[in-house]
Amino acid sequence: MQINGRTKTCGLIGNPVEHTLSPLIHNTLSEQLGRNLVYVPFLVQAEGLESAVKGAYALGIEGLNVTVPHKERVLPYLAEVDGLAEKIGAVNTLVRCGGGYKGYNTDMPGLYRAMTDDGIRVDGEQVLILGAGGVARAVAVMLAEKAERIYLLNRTVEKAAAIADEVNAYAGRQVAAALSLAAYTALPEGRFLAVQATNVGMYPDTDKAVVEERDFYRRIHTGYDLIYNPDKTKFMRLVEEAGGTAYNGLKMLLYQGIIAYELWNQVSVSKEQAEEVYKRLKESL
Ligand code: NAP
Repeated sequence: MQINGRTKTCGLIGNPVEHTLSPLIHNTLSEQLGRNLVYVPFLVQAEGLESAVKGAYALGIEGLNVTVPHKERVLPYLAEVDGLAEKIGAVNTLVRCGGGYKGYNTDMPGLYRAMTDDGIRVDGEQVLILGAGGVARAVAVMLAEKAERIYLLNRTVEKAAAIADEVNAYAGRQVAAALSLAAYTALPEGRFLAVQATNVGMYPDTDKAVVEERDFYRRIHTGYDLIYNPDKTKFMRLVEEAGGTAYNGLKMLLYQGIIAYELWNQVSVSKEQAEEVYKRLKESL
C-alpha cells in the first residue's frame, strides 16, 4: 500500500508495545480489503495517557486499541463507553465519535467468537476460570448469564472472591464461587471447561503451569489457555495428556482485532479473510 495524503491511521497505545501482533492483524486486513489505512504501535506512559488520547483525537486518528496498563485507566478520558465495556470495567478499543472516542471491549466478544469457531459451547457449562486478574474478571462477566456454574481459582483467593460476589450480584443468582488454587480438590465431581487466564506459562517461563498436579487435569474436558506464546503451553500439554482437548489464545487475539477493525471501518471481515490473518499470525510466532 502506498502511504499518501488520504491515508488514515489507527494504532495501539500501551506499555510495552514492542512485541505486539496487532499491526500484523490490522495491516493485513487493510491490504485484503483495499483500505488506505495504516496501524502503528504507540508507547504511552501512564502520565501521558490523557494527552495521548486527546492528541490522537486532534490528529484525526480513526481508532485505537488499548493494552496494559491502560485498559481501565483510560476510561475517564473517553466521550462514551459501550454497555459491555462498562460492565467489564475495561476497554481495549476506542472508536472516534463526536467530541472524542467511544470505548469498547472486543476482548470478550473476541474470546466468544474464538470459542464458537472452535466448536466450544459455554451455555449450561460448568466452567473453571484460573486467575482473577483483569481478563479473568471479564471472562467471568461474559459467562455470568451463560454458564451453569463458574469456579474462580486464584493464588490470591480474596481477589477471586471479590469477582464472584460481583458476578453473583450482577447475574442475580449464585453462579460463581471462589477457591484457592490448591482447593481444586473440593470441586464437585464432573468434567469442566477450563479457561486459563493467568500469566503463568507465558514465554519465556514456558515450563510452568499454574496448577501442576496431574489429578487436576483429569477434571478438564476442554482447556482454553488465553496465552498464545508458546503455541502449546504446559497447561495445554497437561490437559491433553489427561485426555482433554486444548486450545491457545491466538484465535481470541485474532477476533478481538477483527471486531475492532469492523468497528473502525464499518465492514464485515469474511471467514476466508480471517483465516488468512490467522495463518499469518501463526507464521509470525
Ligand atoms: P493480570 O490482571 O495481571 O492478572 C494476572 C493473574 O495471574 C492473576 O490472577 C495472578 O494471581 C495470576 N498469577 C500471576 N503470576 C502467578 C503465579 N506465579 N502463580 C499463580 N498465579 C499467578 O493479567 P490479565 O491482564 O488478566 O491477563 C491474564 C492473561 O491473559 C495473560 O497471560 C495475557 O497474556 C492473557 N491475555 C490474552 C489475550 C488474547 O487475546 N489472547 C488478551 C488479553 C490477555 P494473583 O491475583 O494471585 O496475583
